[in-house]
Amino acid sequence: MKEISLKGLNTSLNGKVLRVQAEVSGAEPIWFEINQKYQSMLDTKSVDAFFILYVWIAMEMGVDLRVEAAVSKQLSDSVLNNVKNMFLILCPRLRDINITVLKQISCPPNNFYHSATGFSGGVDSWYTALKAVEIDNPYAYYMFANTGQHGEYNVEEVVAQRAAIAKNALKTLDAPLIVVDSNIDNVFKERFQQRDVIGNIACVLLLQEGISSYSYSSSYAPEDSKVAEHYDMSIMDPYLIPALSTERIEFRPIGIGATRIQKLRYISNAEKFSNKIYVCIEKELPIKNCGHCFKCRRTQLALDSIGEMELIKNNFGFSFFQQIRSASLIGLFASARKDNLDLEVTEELEEKYGIKVLYYKFLGTIWSVIRNYVPGGLKWRSMAKKPYLW
Ligand SMILES: [Zn+2]
Repeated sequence: MKEISLKGLNTSLNGKVLRVQAEVSGAEPIWFEINQKYQSMLDTKSVDAFFILYVWIAMEMGVDLRVEAAVSKQLSDSVLNNVKNMFLILCPRLRDINITVLKQISCPPNNFYHSATGFSGGVDSWYTALKAVEIDNPYAYYMFANTGQHGEYNVEEVVAQRAAIAKNALKTLDAPLIVVDSNIDNVFKERFQQRDVIGNIACVLLLQEGISSYSYSSSYAPEDSKVAEHYDMSIMDPYLIPALSTERIEFRPIGIGATRIQKLRYISNAEKFSNKIYVCIEKELPIKNCGHCFKCRRTQLALDSIGEMELIKNNFGFSFFQQIRSASLIGLFASARKDNLDLEVTEELEEKYGIKVLYYKFLGTIWSVIRNYVPGGLKWRSMAKKPYLW
């Protein structure tokens, strides 16, 4: 019977780019790329980073997995006993397979404490980073990964520009942003959200010789999290994230903790905030906050509601914002009927502007009904041209 056999990893240097590639048969080789200056952080004792990815891929393909290279014992035990079952519950399209790990190793824990977390320049990233600074325990490293979250077109350029924006925003924190590129998105069949967490965790496992603790921002509130069939792997964060820890690195899920408005208030008052924020979902080049996607809309109006107009000027096109503000408000009020993150912003706007926004609330309510009846073609054209209304 066909199987995937993970035999080891190879490293190669191309200029300053260090590539780490799986030595594998039965499946496409996954690779990661990092800047050579982080070479000392690279885990070459185990194939942990590749292991969790090939477990999923073998389950996608419905073939057994045989791992000849060393895997950290803690991770191997956890995957065989728990994680595999979590995958099966999350995504019933996967198949139950046999996983054989021939060599388990128990590396001693790292003899240093270096913490890390992800950083994109967005509201959650900043909140996490600045909270750690506040308690005098800042992260030693920040990470920026490409595991499929940057779209399908011009990916290399999108990643490079987004990483540059994040790096630039991070300047006030005086800690490196480690960019990890990968071909994970080309190898996996299931769409990004279905398997995003293990891709991101794999990028960190790759560097577990230099990181001893990693805080992973959850996108779901603890009360909404569960191990269940779902399109988004993040739904399992509090259960899955710690289960991917090894003897050398501990993965900690960190919760939402505060509302978007509270986070923005906190960030804008923090001393180490660079006043640079990047929230946009658009992937058109050059990369910038587009000002009209739902995330830009939400962030701009949230900043408006707390009176942080300077931050809007700093990070978005201000005259464009003013031009579409009325329509954005109608779109936000319409969307707030279904989306809690938008609802929170409208509540703040109502508090600040009182009856001045009631008109938009009224129009938003009407629009939320009408937009269900807009015919397909017109709807798509409008969504493309004026996304802030949808
Ligand atoms: Zn945008």
